[in-house]
Amino acid sequence: MDQPAIPDPIAAAASPVMAQYFAAKARQPDALLLFRMGDFYELFFDDAAQAASAIGIALTQRGTHAGAPIPMAGVPAHAVESYLAKLVRAGFKVAICDQVENPAEARRRGSKAVVRRELVRVVTPGTLTDDTLLNARGANRLAAVALRADQVAVAAVELSTGEVECLLVRREGVAAALSALQPSEVLVTDRLFGELAGDLEQAGGAIETMPAALAEPAAAEARLKRLYGVASLDGFGPLAGAEVAALGLIAAHLEITQAGTIPALRPPRRSTEAAFMSVDPATRISLEIECTLAGQRQGSLIATIDRTVTGPGARRLAARLNRPLLDIAAINERLDAVAWFVDDIEARRQLRELASRAGDMARALSRLALGRGGPRDLGAFVQGLEAGSKIGAMLGARCGPLVQLPKEIADAARALDLTFSAELAALHRALSGGLATDLPLQARDGGFVGQGVSAELDETRSLRDDSRRIVATLEIRLAEQAGVPLKIRHNAVLGYFVETNARHADTLRAPPHATVFIHRQSLANQARFTTVELAELDGRIARAAEQALGLELAIFEQWRGRARALAPSIQAAAEALAALDVASALAEWAVEVGAVRPVLDEGVGLSAAQARHPVVESAVRRAGEAFTANDCRLDGAAVDGPRLAIVTGPNMAGKSTFLRQNAVLAILAQAGSFVPAAELRLGLVDRLFSRVGAGDDLGRGRSTFLTEMIETAAILNQATARSLVIVDEIGRGTATWDGLAIAWACAEALHTIGCRTLFATHYHELASLEERLAGVANLCLKAKEWNGKLVFLHEASSGCADRSYGVHVAALAGTPAPVVSRARVILERLEAKSASTSRLAELPLFAAPEAVDAPPSAVEEALGRLDIDGMSPREAQAALYRLKTLLRGRS
Ligand code: ADP
Ligand code: MG
Repeated sequence: MDQPAIPDPIAAAASPVMAQYFAAKARQPDALLLFRMGDFYELFFDDAAQAASAIGIALTQRGTHAGAPIPMAGVPAHAVESYLAKLVRAGFKVAICDQVENPAEARRRGSKAVVRRELVRVVTPGTLTDDTLLNARGANRLAAVALRADQVAVAAVELSTGEVECLLVRREGVAAALSALQPSEVLVTDRLFGELAGDLEQAGGAIETMPAALAEPAAAEARLKRLYGVASLDGFGPLAGAEVAALGLIAAHLEITQAGTIPALRPPRRSTEAAFMSVDPATRISLEIECTLAGQRQGSLIATIDRTVTGPGARRLAARLNRPLLDIAAINERLDAVAWFVDDIEARRQLRELASRAGDMARALSRLALGRGGPRDLGAFVQGLEAGSKIGAMLGARCGPLVQLPKEIADAARALDLTFSAELAALHRALSGGLATDLPLQARDGGFVGQGVSAELDETRSLRDDSRRIVATLEIRLAEQAGVPLKIRHNAVLGYFVETNARHADTLRAPPHATVFIHRQSLANQARFTTVELAELDGRIARAAEQALGLELAIFEQWRGRARALAPSIQAAAEALAALDVASALAEWAVEVGAVRPVLDEGVGLSAAQARHPVVESAVRRAGEAFTANDCRLDGAAVDGPRLAIVTGPNMAGKSTFLRQNAVLAILAQAGSFVPAAELRLGLVDRLFSRVGAGDDLGRGRSTFLTEMIETAAILNQATARSLVIVDEIGRGTATWDGLAIAWACAEALHTIGCRTLFATHYHELASLEERLAGVANLCLKAKEWNGKLVFLHEASSGCADRSYGVHVAALAGTPAPVVSRARVILERLEAKSASTSRLAELPLFAAPEAVDAPPSAVEEALGRLDIDGMSPREAQAALYRLKTLLRGRS
């Protein structure tokens, strides 16, 4: 752009309103500014043009500035949410500048005073809180990365629920840690951006660079204290410098975007990367954990096993699968809870039934704390606490002196037991008795406080209702007096008025009447009047309504304040419900697919019996076929036991499925889920790597082969003896001998590291490693030739594929028959001993089969003789039978 997007306000004298606009814009130069003007939010200058082209709103003009028309686009204030959603999805940051007083208040300050406006919020991808902008079943996190004294910290906040966490990681662990959080937006200082750009790009989310000064120790600490309203950070434990810096960046971003409103945040949950299985972004993508390679949720691991009945439950399940644990006791606590719900069918059924009626309390609380909540958010508490107390009672009834609940369930039941907090129970009573049944979205719409909450409100309302009744009787009386049909109506401009057909206008105008009708307005067909009495009533009703609304808003504020003060208990109850939803949903899924409890130990083995890939199985089942279960045994400790399996087999035999299935089992097991197998014993996997060759990555401007090698190098540098590595056909993106050499060297290196490895390859030469290296075994997914066709058994057994059946697959794919038969001839030559391309030179040239004029067959001749028009249906059928006999005679 050669022209500045915003003209310099000083250079060109601006109107008072535009001066306000420029001041706001100067504070958020890189955001689209939505500027409230009456019933609309307006965008000006370049913002208007950008928004108009991005979301298709009309571009107009408003007045002039510096001699040129000002481009303008507007969205109606009542529908601003849906436009916000579109703009944020289109990748914009949006600042909202609202009117913070009404025109009457402005006039009181002086006849020329402009309505005061302030920046009330900046909407960025990581700070969404509105229901319409969020996915109920997906988290929406804002993350930050900071580095201090060789330590790297990754912090994240979910503003919509108030969860905060902080993780110390190695420099190489940044991408894995970030991608596990699936952030929508990542903050990083401008100083660190260059160094971390690659990691940030892999992890996804919008990147926001911040001035490095914001991460300085003193500044970060001060901001963090302000955010939490604490005098010292000691309550959070000994935070490392990097953690304070990362949390400080988040605090700075929230200060700006929330315009100083303090959200209801929980204390940061701290951990180190040693607590979680490390799964890097490439592995996450290739295992299709949260979304498929095509980018869809449908068909991902999470979508396939998710049986949760609440949004918070779905989010928690995703968080667990994105971050499997490394602590056997913690994993077993989760498994105990799942097992309990597997056994107690009735508890599971009741819990799912009750939980499905609970609202999303955490998100409701967060909106209320930020001043964006409405009556429906209070309604969510009623539903959530209602469901929670019933669930607490149901669980309580199930344990006695002899029966103990598993720890996770017992903890949740305790959190739900409202008697532990008299205040929370009181709030629940107040809300469930006090909220009306039909709740408006916004408090200012009124009508959400029920009868009996406030005597004053009830009185004001009855005054209003009485006055309305008086209006009704007045209508009858006035009609009688005037002797013409008339109605009393109401609108926002005139208030109450008398309306009659234009024909009768003169009758009302003309005296003598007991009542004087004062003319207000004439329309094409109607005339509108008022009377002294009606005007008085109108004033009384309007005052009563205004007073009632004021009282309702005060009650709303009071309820909001109580909820805000009880935030920790409400959050705990919400978390307990989510935990129970996850445990019972995993149980539901386990029963549905026949999954079993995995056994975890500190060893380095993997022993799966009759295991299945949950996603492929459900796809295969939908197609009406059966999935073939397979065993897998790897042991990193045994001297002779295989720890690296070379997996061969023809295309489509099920190699990739077999590999991923074992990686998915490890994720499920360590996330605390049952696994689809007859049995699984697993030594904890510290890092999981999955690499798939031949994936096309041209979109990112890297050669496929280069990417493949970069990813493979990462495995060789980071895998440990506790890791699980699956390598699927690497080395494909280059010439045969290069590829073979690289695949070979990688297999040897992985064998040396000692990690459990499944290595699928089309280089059958690698099978010879089995004889040379003690820890290597060959596995093969076989296919059988049957009647000239290829039948895939999908069965993993020891040994190496004898051939790759590529030619068969080509035939299956519909390659023209002459090409397939020609390929067979070439293959035979190649497979002859001491095959080399030179032998191909002796091969006779490929001759296209000539189009021969074969004589017509008996069937064709008979067909040609048929006179279809002259045949009766019966004769036609007989002819068909004859043709069939002819056909049989030929074969
Ligand atoms: P490969 O990697 O050997 O080419 P894939 O693992 O991609 O083969 O599997 C190809 C297809 O075969 C899958 O999409 C699935 O439909 C089917 N398949 C794979 N494994 C099994 C199995 N164990 N049981 C049933 N069908 C399977
Ligand atoms: Mg494959």
